[in-house]
Amino acid sequence: RRKQSRKGSMADIPKDLLQEIKRLEDLFTVDTAKLKAIVEHFISELAKGLSVEGGSIPMNPTWCMGFPTGNETGTFLALDMGGTNLRVCEINLPEEKGEFDIIQSKYRLPEDLKTGTADELWAYIADCLQQFIEYHHEGEKLDKLPLGFTFSYPRWTKGFDIEGVEGKDVVPPFEAALEERGVPIKLTALINDTTGTLIASSYTDSEMKIGCIFGTGCNAAYMEHFSEIPKLAHMKVDPNQEIAINCEWGAFDNEHKILPRTQYDVIIDKDSPRPGQQSFEKMIAGLYLGELFRLVLVDLHEQPHVKIFEGQDVAALKKPYSLDASFLSDVESDPFENLQETHDTFHTKLNIKCTKPELELIRRLAELIGTRSARLSACGVAAICKKKGYKTAHVGADGSVFNKYPHFKARGAQALKEILDWDKGRDGKPLGRGHDPVEILPAEDGSGVGAALIAALTLKRVQEGNV
Ligand code: BGC
Ligand code: MG
Repeated sequence: RRKQSRKGSMADIPKDLLQEIKRLEDLFTVDTAKLKAIVEHFISELAKGLSVEGGSIPMNPTWCMGFPTGNETGTFLALDMGGTNLRVCEINLPEEKGEFDIIQSKYRLPEDLKTGTADELWAYIADCLQQFIEYHHEGEKLDKLPLGFTFSYPRWTKGFDIEGVEGKDVVPPFEAALEERGVPIKLTALINDTTGTLIASSYTDSEMKIGCIFGTGCNAAYMEHFSEIPKLAHMKVDPNQEIAINCEWGAFDNEHKILPRTQYDVIIDKDSPRPGQQSFEKMIAGLYLGELFRLVLVDLHEQPHVKIFEGQDVAALKKPYSLDASFLSDVESDPFENLQETHDTFHTKLNIKCTKPELELIRRLAELIGTRSARLSACGVAAICKKKGYKTAHVGADGSVFNKYPHFKARGAQALKEILDWDKGRDGKPLGRGHDPVEILPAEDGSGVGAALIAALTLKRVQEGNV
């Protein structure tokens, strides 16, 4: 309803801005045909990543072999290092399937630690774990507790830049830091957040086939059969055995064959710490959404024929990465007809007083960037489903963009329908709401319960003497 009346007001927008809105719509809209083409290419790239030659999507085997049975028992620790917090959990998996007790503590991750040395980071984490044990098990004599560590940084992103971690085995220095302090913990499994999400979600919902993170970064994990993984053929594992694959799909289309990149995506990449990497991620993840938005606005301002923010001080707007995804998300959820909140935020945060037509353009631009993100994200999900031949599936998703960005879920679901031709059911009638064959649903706690379950599965595999 609001959208319609806002459309009506488009009549008052000066011609140059209207033209720009039209140009941006063409630039950022990914139509059904393009979505389908992206998915087809995505499928072949997933397979390439599993081949001996390899491709640009890493398709990392996780050594998490199959889903939990529900018979996992014992006490496990889980450690999660996010962008701002360290979270430590202790999880008790009792005999009863799907039931578990969990206690947790959070520790702030000091900003300067993110750009310090690797030794400082491991020391800090070990100190937090020691505190956790002392607090929750005061005076107890403990056997070493197995720990699942969710560490989703194959390369530093999200504001981290610490030397001597990338491409290195993080296990020895971390264990050394624990050893030094006599902390009774054994690092049992190093886990990617998507794998944790997959395992935790499947523990409570057996329809869950894929785990996704749509947050600061984006990625997915799913179960693959060894028969489909030529690069592991030398291991001579039963072809019917399953193993979780951490796709690292952010790297999709690093060779720029299919994604509809705009000049703004090119700038994001060029000015990033790792140009040429994570092409797909740079078009959809939370880390980049606000920056894309900012780059477009600066570009419009600088074009002489577009009259936008005239006579305004754009110094604040010109600061790279000054707007995050929550800024965009606020613009998209402005409840007022006249976009009053957006007006006020631009004024207080950026020192820019927007006119009504400028506000209309800003809102439309936010919608375009948010919609493109959701629709491209759906391509990855659809590609895995098609590769696996899933007719129906639940997909467990987590991350700030999935959980907080307005309309992200609905837009993703809409794109899935278009890609997989689910506008109609098998009987030809339109599908009712909530009956999509593939549904992207909120995940279970991957870096807590998921990490603990993976630690349990790993311990069992090691005890049984399997790889
Ligand atoms: C990382 C992945 C991670 C994803 C979601 C990406 O930047 O490369 O390992 O799963 O973010 O957190
Ligand atoms: Mg369902």
